[in-house]
Amino acid sequence: MAEKITCSSCKKQITNEHGSVKFMCPSCGKYRIVRCKHCREIAAKYKCAECGFEGPN
Ligand SMILES: [Zn+2]
Ligand SMILES: [Zn+2]
Repeated sequence: MAEKITCSSCKKQITNEHGSVKFMCPSCGKYRIVRCKHCREIAAKYKCAECGFEGPN
């Protein structure tokens, strides 16, 4: 029952957790943001589906 985790920026499924990060929205704390290694490296934007917060902060 592996949970499917997709990157919040590029929507790619995270298959290798190494280098990816997961954290709750820094604004509302309700939505889990996931960023893959690639999106972290290029500082791709992410957006919270709950409150519309956009990062990286
Ligand atoms: Zn990504
Ligand atoms: Zn939020």
